[in-house]
Amino acid sequence: MGKKIALVTGGIRGIGHAISKKLLSSGAFVIAVGTNKERCKKWVDTQKEEGFEDVDAYACDVSDCSAASEMIKSIKEKYGRIDILVNNAGITRDATFKKMTLQQWDEVMKVNVNSLYNVTQPVLGLMLDNGYGRIVNISSINGQKGQFGQANYSTAKAAVHGFTKSLALETASKNITVNTVSPGYIATDMMRDIPEEILQKIIAQIPVKRLGTPEEIADIVQYLSDEKSGFITGSNIAINGGQHMC
Ligand code: NDP
Repeated sequence: MGKKIALVTGGIRGIGHAISKKLLSSGAFVIAVGTNKERCKKWVDTQKEEGFEDVDAYACDVSDCSAASEMIKSIKEKYGRIDILVNNAGITRDATFKKMTLQQWDEVMKVNVNSLYNVTQPVLGLMLDNGYGRIVNISSINGQKGQFGQANYSTAKAAVHGFTKSLALETASKNITVNTVSPGYIATDMMRDIPEEILQKIIAQIPVKRLGTPEEIADIVQYLSDEKSGFITGSNIAINGGQHMC
């Protein structure tokens, strides 16, 4: 087998971008997924300018089952297989539950949870055919501890680890591992909308007294995506500066 082929959803921005870069640096061929064709093309051009030739990107709404399945079909035709899948795409639509609209609830479920089915189902077929796979699902500290104003997001992120554990059981004997990474508060665009005053209160609650970096998440995802991590499956790795210990 030549280079490992990795698919990273939400791989052109934030934590996903750091994961894509880390996997590229580790020698994988990386296919990143974003929502916008132009931004995806620009991302690929930038990686190539920086000397990373083994990249591709697809614009695909991973909450759309047929779009995701078409994308995987096209990747199979072009590259033959997928060895590493990082389900990283995610969104927030915060509101207290009393005020939360069905739309806010549904959007979060579709992108954070339904995408797990939409993308992983067709990818799993390729991994089973190939007799090898590494799947990493990105959850959140708030899926473990809950968060005011995030009943939708906390529900979705708790579901991520339920998915991980069941799929890990189903694939453990097939040389495929499935793990969850649960970041705490990480400095990305997702934090952009949090008012400075609230952000400072959040940082005060983190025992290491800072936000995490996307690269710190990428390091652990890379380890779990490596061949040598074959004895780790069904795990949930918390990276949150000590903010929530379980
Ligand atoms: P960003 O908002 O910075 O990036 C989100 C990425 O997901 C973008 O690349 C975006 O694509 C992609 N995306 C969103 N919706 C879709 C969709 N429908 N189809 C395909 N791609 C989509 O988020 P972060 O990097 O901060 O978060 C990454 C993951 O980590 C998420 O799952 C998030 O819930 C989780 N997380 C983040 C934390 C944080 O503090 N930042 C803490 C805990 C967990 P595009 O670039 O086209 O917009």
